[in-house]
Parts: sequence; C-alpha cells; structure tokens
Amino acid sequence: MLRGKTGYICRNCVNESYNMLFGETERPAPANSGRGGKSAGMPTPREIKDTLDKYIIGQDEAKRTLAVAVYNHYKRIKHNAANKAAGKGAGKGALGRATSDSGNDDVEIQKSNILVVGPTGVGKSLIAQMLARILNVPFAIADATTLTQAGYVGEDVENVLLRLVQAADFDIGRAEQGIIYIDEIDKITRKSENTSLTRDVSGEGVQQALLKMVEGTVSNIPPQGGRKHPHQEFIQIDTSNILFICGGAFEGIEKIIAKRIHTNVIGFGSDIKTSGQTAENEHMKHIEPEDLVKFGLVPELVGRLPIITTLDHLDEAQLIRILIEPRNALVRQYRELFKLDDIELEVDDGALAAIARMAIDRKTGARGLRSVVEKVLGGVMFDVPGSERTVSRVCVTAEAVAEFAPVVEYADTADKAAGRKKTA
Ligand code: ADP
Repeated sequence: MLRGKTGYICRNCVNESYNMLFGETERPAPANSGRGGKSAGMPTPREIKDTLDKYIIGQDEAKRTLAVAVYNHYKRIKHNAANKAAGKGAGKGALGRATSDSGNDDVEIQKSNILVVGPTGVGKSLIAQMLARILNVPFAIADATTLTQAGYVGEDVENVLLRLVQAADFDIGRAEQGIIYIDEIDKITRKSENTSLTRDVSGEGVQQALLKMVEGTVSNIPPQGGRKHPHQEFIQIDTSNILFICGGAFEGIEKIIAKRIHTNVIGFGSDIKTSGQTAENEHMKHIEPEDLVKFGLVPELVGRLPIITTLDHLDEAQLIRILIEPRNALVRQYRELFKLDDIELEVDDGALAAIARMAIDRKTGARGLRSVVEKVLGGVMFDVPGSERTVSRVCVTAEAVAEFAPVVEYADTADKAAGRKKTA
C-alpha cells in the first residue's frame, strides 16, 4: 500500500491507473522498474510467455521453462538486494521464519544460469534476445568458438562483458543485471577438435574462463576492448547477477542419452527423416547433466547451468507460420518493402509450403527461410526499380519458388483488365 495525503492506494491500482493513463498494456513493465515489494513491476512468467508467443513459433516447453527461469532470476536479484539493504539477518524471527516483505532473510537464493539445447536455427538466440527485450535489460551475444583463454590469440572472455556494458550505454549497474547469450557452447568441449594452433588444445581452458564469469566474479575489462595491458584503465564489473544463457546443438548427444536410458537406437536418424527427428527430439527431452559431462563439458560448468531446456526441430507447418505470423515475419517484411514501391506482393499457400520444404532441405532451421525467400524475390527486387513498365503485382506460387521466378504483373495490363471488367 502506498500512502498519499488523504488515503491509501494498493500497488495493483497504481498499475491499473498507469495503464489507463498511458496505455501501457501491451508491453510488460521492465523487470527492474519496480519499487519495493516481492516482484513489483516485473512481468509474470505467463506475461513473459505471452509476449514470447508473438515472436516465437512453437518451442512451447522451452518458452515456459525460460519464462519461469528469468522471472525467478530477477526475483532473486530483488530478494538479495532487499536483504542487503535491510542488513543481513535483521528482523529475523525465531526459527528463521520470514519477517520481511522480501522473504526469509536467511536464504540467499543462488543464481541459476540456463542451457538451451537444440538444432541450429530453431530460435535459441532469438528467445534469449526477446527475453532481454521483454525485461528491458541489456543483452549481448557471443560465440564460444571465438573465445580464448586469457593470453591466447583470439577474443578474451572479458570482451563479452564489454559488449554487455556497451549495450547498457556504459551504465555498469544496468549491465550487471543484463543477459548474455553464449552460442555454440557445445563446440568448446574437451573432445572438440583444435580449430587453430593458437587455441588451447582442448577447449577446456575456455570452459574454465567461462566458468569464472558464469558463476560470478568481479572482472576487469579494458574499456576499449582488445587485449589487456598493465597501464590501462579498467572497468570493474560484477557478473554475479548477470544471467547467462548458453546454447548449443550438441549433435550426437542423443546417443549418449539413449545409451543411458537403454533405449534402442538402431536405425536412428537413418530411416525416414521425420521419424528420425521425432526420435531425436524425444531423447533430447531426457537430457541430464551427466550426459553433458560425457559429451565433454567440464562438470563445474555443467553445475553452473542447472536449468536445461530443449528446443525442437521446426516442421513444415511451423516454418510456414514463421513466414507469416510474427510481427517481423519475412513475408510481412517483403510485402511492406514492395508496398513502398506501390507493388502488391502475393504469396500463395503452395508457395509458402514450397519455401518451408526448401528450408527443411537446407537443414538450417528457420534460418534457411530467408535465403530461399531472397533467392525467389532477389531477381524482381533487382529489376523492378527503374523498370520501363510499372509493376503492380508480384505473385509467388509453388512453381515460382521452384524456378526462383515469381510472376510479375504490370500496371498497364492490370489497368486493361480492370477496364474490361468495368465495361463488361
Ligand atoms: P538458433 O537456434 O541457431 O540460435 P536463431 O534463434 O538465431 O537460431 O534463429 C535464426 C532466425 O530464424 C531468427 O532470427 C528468426 O528470424 C528465425 N527463427 C528461428 N526459430 C524461430 C521460431 N521458433 N519462431 C520464429 N522465428 C524463428
């Protein structure tokens, strides 16, 4: 309850009034905007999931798990901050029972970083990025394969933190509550092949460097990036509240999982493609930390990634939805681009299915969609501006996709057709 001059108002009513006045119903309030209370100002897991649904097709289980995980993460930050502000242990009742609004003063909730496992192009980094947007926290992305142990040629692990600081406009406090997505974590396993002579032989060194950052440390980062040298000024950043989301395909791990759960994997992935993928998805869902260690991640790092969630292969129907449904869907974007030239873009159902099937063949998930669409429309997009005849419509059918040649209609012929209609 908030006290005013003449009365009281509860937090819900404050939010309602705010929404009524400023119409902020669409976007959940930022995670760190609340004042006081347990989770004031923070979107609930359901709200987070609802917003994710607008941009990410399928992957329901992962969206749910991640919505809860980030909600708990930011609740934890508030809880620990409230404890710190109150002075640890102050106001503690008998048997350590909670005596404050922010929970039991005795309990320090530990950070739970997240591991997302799934094939390429199915939305791993997109979900991480969207979560940061929903929670209004800075976000940085890094590729584990470019990282090196300090002292080796390559990118220092600290540079990832610098990117987050840059995303937070050098507001260190904000950066310290940001989200970092580390892609291709499966490529720095102990067993992975040495990709360059300058990298440490096993990848284990990089894992150790990452481990320190992920579990929480105060890191010194050079503000200009690049390598450290003794006379440089450093920015100090505490990583203990930064949420790390690591992602990887972990190709082949399903065999380790299957072996553990004694499932028969004969013929796995070799028979019919769809049943192979279904089997793979099924095994993946049973992934356990020990499988990750067998795969080659060091146990300490696995221990710091207690929340594991899996993303599925995208099927044809889902790829079609990705083409047309999200606010930034490819077909919507291209339609808008053509509209700016007064051209109507029509993509029929057969074309959508054909594009989706081509993307499946490319085995790059939804990422393949863009390259197919670009190839189909690339020629027209090159020819149309400055063409002698005015184009009024571009139609994409299944055949047009197969031949990478959409049907172009011109304004003069369209006018004639319209004219005929009128006189008929
Ligand atoms: P990865 O799983 O390899 O991290 P990304 O998240 O980078 O894949 O996906 C690449 C692109 O494909 C995204 O930017 C987005 O446009 C599209 N995409 C992938 N998965 C989905 C999905 N489930 N829903 C909507 N778009 C998706």
